[in-house]
Amino acid sequence: ALSLRAIEKSFNGNQILKGVSLDAEPGEFIALVGPSGCGKSTLLRILAGLETADSGMITVGDQDLTKLQAAACNVAMVFQSYALYPHLTAAQNIAVPLVMRRLTRAQRLPLLGPLMPGQRQAVAEIKRDVRDMAVSLKIDHLMDRKPGQMSGGQRQRVALGRAMVRRPAVFLMDEPLSNLDANLRVHARGEIVDLHRRAGVPTVYVTHDQAEALSMADRVAVMIGGALLQLAPPAVIYDDPRHIEVAKFVGQPR
Ligand code: ATP
Ligand code: MG
Repeated sequence: ALSLRAIEKSFNGNQILKGVSLDAEPGEFIALVGPSGCGKSTLLRILAGLETADSGMITVGDQDLTKLQAAACNVAMVFQSYALYPHLTAAQNIAVPLVMRRLTRAQRLPLLGPLMPGQRQAVAEIKRDVRDMAVSLKIDHLMDRKPGQMSGGQRQRVALGRAMVRRPAVFLMDEPLSNLDANLRVHARGEIVDLHRRAGVPTVYVTHDQAEALSMADRVAVMIGGALLQLAPPAVIYDDPRHIEVAKFVGQPR
C-alpha cells in the first residue's frame, strides 16, 4: 500500500519534517492530527508531488514515488479550499483529471468544439465516468453549474468527485470539511467514509477536528513539531497516549 520512510524537509534552514515514517494498509483510513504549523500540510504536499522531500522514500505498492511523478502513481488530493476551476462547470471540473490522462494534448484543445473522430470514444467514456461519479455523490442535478453557483457542501462534493473519478491509488485530504457549517460537516463525514470504503484505497486525512479523527479513522497519526509521535487506533490514542505531548494535544478541549 502506502509507505513513507524517514521523510525530511526543511524550509530556509528550518527543519519542518524530522524523519516521518508511516505505513498505511490497503484501504486504511488514517487521520493526521497535530498543532498548527507541525507540518501536516507539508507532508501531504510531498505525498501529492507538489513539494519534494529533502530525503526519505515514498512507495505506493511497488512504485517508488520519489522517482516517479505523483500523477503517474495516481495520488489524488482534496484541498480545504477545494481549488475548483471557477470558469468550468461541475461536470467539466470532475472531467479534468480524465481529460488530462486519456486524451493527448492535441485532442484536449478542441474539446469544447466539434469532436474529432478518434476522440469520440474517449469522450463518451469520460462522460460516462463523470456521470457515474456524480450519481454516486448525488450531485448529478448540479453538473451544469459553475462553482460560484453552488453551496459550500456542493462544491466540496464536486471536489471529492474530481479527486476520486480517476480511481487513485492513494487519496489525500487536507481539512476538506473545515469550510462547512457544523451540520453539513457531520453529514459530509459519513459521505467521505462511504466513498473511501467503496474506493478501498489508503487515505490520509488531515483534520483539526478530533471528533472527525475519532469517528472516521482506522488509525490516528499524531504529529508534533515535525515528528510522528504515535500512530494507533483512535481509542488507543485517547486512552493510552505514549508521549506527554500527545496527551496534551488530545486532551485539549476544542
Ligand atoms: P495548519 O494546521 O495550520 O494547517 P500544518 O501542520 O499544516 O498547519 P504546514 O503548513 O505543513 O503546517 O507548515 C509547517 C511549517 O512549515 C510552518 O512553520 C510553515 O510556515 C512552514 N512552511 C510551509 N510551507 C512553506 C514554504 N513553502 N516556505 C517556507 N516555509 C513553509
Ligand atoms: Mg495545514
